[in-house]
Amino acid sequence: MNMKKLVMTIALAVVGGVVAMAQQMPMIPVDPDVRIGQLDNGLTYYIRHNNWPEQRAEFYIAQKVGSIQEDDSQRGLAHFLEHMAFNGSKHFKGNELLRWCESIGVKFGNDLNAYTSVEQTVYNISNVPTTRESIIDSCLIILWDWADGLLLEQEEIEKERGVIHEEWRLRTSAQMRMLERDLPKLYPGSKYGERMPIGLMEIIDNFERPFLQAYYEKWYRPDNQGIIVVGDIDVDQVEQKIKTMFSQIAKPGPDAARFEPVAVPDNAEPIVVIDKDKEQKINMAEVMFKHDATPNSAKLTVDYIVAKYMKSEALGMLNSRLGEIAQQPDCPFLQAQVSDGNYIFSKTKDALDMAVVPKDGQMNEALKRVFAEVRRAAEFGFTATEYGRSKANTLSGLDKSYSNKDKRYNSQFVNQYVNHFLNNEPIPSIDDHYQMMKNLVPAIPLEGINEVMRQLVPQNDSNLVIISFNQEKDDAVYPTEEGLLGAIRDARAEKLTAWVDNVKDEPLMTTLPTKGKISKEEKIDKFLTQTADSVESGYSELTLSNGIKVVLKHTDLKKDQVLLSAEGWGGSSLYGLEDRANISFFNDVVEASGLSSFSHTELIKAMAGKIAGASLSMSAQRTHVSGSSTPNDVETMLQLVYLYMTGNIKKDQQSFDQLMKSAEVQLKNRLLNPEAVFGDSLNATLSCHNPRFKSLEVSDLKDVDYDRILQMARERTANAGAFTFTIIGNYNDTIIRPLIEQYIGSLPTQKDIVKGKDIATDYKGKVVNDFRHKSETPKSIAVIHWYTKQIPYTLENSILAQVAGQVLQMVYLKEIREEASAAYTVNAQAGVSRDDFGDEASLFAYCPMKPEKADTAIAIMRGAVQEMAAGKCDADMVMKVKEYILKAHADQLKSNGYWSGRIGAWRKWKLDFHTDYEKTVQAVTPERVSAFVAEVLKSGNEAEVVMLPAE
Ligand SMILES: [Zn+2]
Repeated sequence: MNMKKLVMTIALAVVGGVVAMAQQMPMIPVDPDVRIGQLDNGLTYYIRHNNWPEQRAEFYIAQKVGSIQEDDSQRGLAHFLEHMAFNGSKHFKGNELLRWCESIGVKFGNDLNAYTSVEQTVYNISNVPTTRESIIDSCLIILWDWADGLLLEQEEIEKERGVIHEEWRLRTSAQMRMLERDLPKLYPGSKYGERMPIGLMEIIDNFERPFLQAYYEKWYRPDNQGIIVVGDIDVDQVEQKIKTMFSQIAKPGPDAARFEPVAVPDNAEPIVVIDKDKEQKINMAEVMFKHDATPNSAKLTVDYIVAKYMKSEALGMLNSRLGEIAQQPDCPFLQAQVSDGNYIFSKTKDALDMAVVPKDGQMNEALKRVFAEVRRAAEFGFTATEYGRSKANTLSGLDKSYSNKDKRYNSQFVNQYVNHFLNNEPIPSIDDHYQMMKNLVPAIPLEGINEVMRQLVPQNDSNLVIISFNQEKDDAVYPTEEGLLGAIRDARAEKLTAWVDNVKDEPLMTTLPTKGKISKEEKIDKFLTQTADSVESGYSELTLSNGIKVVLKHTDLKKDQVLLSAEGWGGSSLYGLEDRANISFFNDVVEASGLSSFSHTELIKAMAGKIAGASLSMSAQRTHVSGSSTPNDVETMLQLVYLYMTGNIKKDQQSFDQLMKSAEVQLKNRLLNPEAVFGDSLNATLSCHNPRFKSLEVSDLKDVDYDRILQMARERTANAGAFTFTIIGNYNDTIIRPLIEQYIGSLPTQKDIVKGKDIATDYKGKVVNDFRHKSETPKSIAVIHWYTKQIPYTLENSILAQVAGQVLQMVYLKEIREEASAAYTVNAQAGVSRDDFGDEASLFAYCPMKPEKADTAIAIMRGAVQEMAAGKCDADMVMKVKEYILKAHADQLKSNGYWSGRIGAWRKWKLDFHTDYEKTVQAVTPERVSAFVAEVLKSGNEAEVVMLPAE
């Protein structure tokens, strides 16, 4: 059965009937602002100018090949090859490519990266500063080297084997082990079953160079390659350069290998896979119905966009229902989500996929309930009120992104072009797309969506696949094939009735509070930003009639964004150990509650068509209220904030119970995960086993007291006078002022402010916690931490800390990964911070490493820090890090969060971390970095936590 075709026919009929389109569907126009071309050798390119942010560009090369092209002797080599792209090429010997990128502030792992999947391999150089033309040239040379100039030197291959082995170890989890084991059963008779990209470790450890070479030469060819350059560049110039450079790559001959797409055969009988692993934390299942994927040739005309829209509306409404059902006390599942897309990871076959997390021991009941709901939607359709909300959300989302069309990031374009190149996904301009959707959405009737839903659910169980992953333990009762199939059969037999959509047709607030006034306004010429008409402005500090201060800063950095943050004195430190569980769950419980007269679910429904949110949370010394909205929905956001601040959180017992059930499942088996075991040990060591900071266990859940949490929320918000509000973004100034008077000026305030208590329990001196832990795949992790209270929180020290951390990260990358092949990931960070009780500077080194090379890795982690403190700090590395920090800072200037943070630090501590930022970075010398590290080490506070595998 070709289900996609059916769906499309329906869409055609629906659109044809309603908007009377011609029989011949119009083509989806390609965005005229992207230059697309193809060279004679078959290489495709996409080039687009975009200047947000200015002087930045992205350079990508996408290859239409991945692990599926490997033969049996090459399993893992597609991914191995991807690693070799950073280890020696025609113009960049050894690791020079990494070093050169570092020199322009492009960091390996962040901005310089790649990924290999089953059907594609994509490389990127991102956030490239386009300040010099030579940088653009060099990036194109790197793409050229990746396309055709890899050296694949023996010595580099030998070093990379260990790195990839450690990547395998790092990524190996219970689910990965089971999936890898079960793939052949999930893809019977298909190569997909044996092509996990990470491959086989015996091949990674032992393969001979010609096998890798063969893959590279056979598949990395211009006709499989697409180059994408987006950013602040000259399109004509870049096109000319691409033509000149890449035309040199030979055109594949007529005998070049052809790759036939690998089919995924249909299955007449259901495939049921039941597996278990000792480290699997939660039992889960997926029910899938395979169906044909939409061929690339069917993605060219408007009906494809129509079909996609209709399916996404149908699945969105279905998932809202499942979310609502999950809150009912007798619901057998904790979570369920239905989607439609690639079957596991194959492009050539799609599947309708129902993912289910059952409550304890209710696997069969959960599957039955979810599939019955899917059937209910298919047979009775959705209600007018459901579709009304769903459409409203879609339309407001479209308006939001359209309003910000001039401030789209390069990465957004790149993702679209990669998808166009690899999967033929349409790339209309944002104007065309917006117009198309604005016409389509109101024109498509509910009946059409219901018909699409009906077509998505097959009437019989051919092409059915069920996966059930379980926790392995002695007394476990595992699901059986009969049981799982029986659940589907029972769901099919169940007599269903139509869904009833309960909606509360009331405004969020029925009566408005007595309005306050803006009684004073001070304009502050600090932290200046430019508006569209090049006017520079700082910020305003309003004093309201109730005494509350509101900082107001208008920016158009994101045209669709307004952010609110309010910080009040006093936080969780005001509560004792007896409230430990309540403190831990405070944020989540508040979030799961309702507001005003609305339950949690009613609130979600009431927000349809609005893009606004708010939340209340606690940290140790403060209480925080945050909000965000589009310029249009500022009033809704302020209403939400008002309700949180005035004790109007509504108790929603069902929602709370569901939260506690989920927490129980999460916590019960948390320590089966070796990384969680390490995290707990680290936490305990750094906090001197302070019981306040200990991770919760299932037995603590009985102490979570809903009423007590609501009481804490009321206490923390009772005095709005303890809060300062900051609102930043693209609001309308004349509209927002009366709203501020209405919703913030009306909040009750008192004079007395309660401040938090010092609850920190830092370790002192040298502390060592080395331990062994047994896990399914042997794992080892090390952390070394140093701190001092003697370094003040200043701009200079915070920059020195950043530089020190990043230089260390570079040393670790070079010595632990590249030279010793002892790890895949290395990490170092340093920072300076301040709270109400003092300042602290710390250094943190982290590395999950090869158990056999743990001593080497740990020696480097500690040795590099000691050397730095002794005055050996690499000047070249410091220069590169400064380059990176300056570039990252220039990018941060484009975000509202940055300005809000800078204003906050200024108002709180009189610290200006903005004005002299660049000057201070430029003044950093290796000597000062060394002195900073030496000062941290002088305290003698050092904690080492190491986990090694037990026999
Ligand atoms: Zn990798």
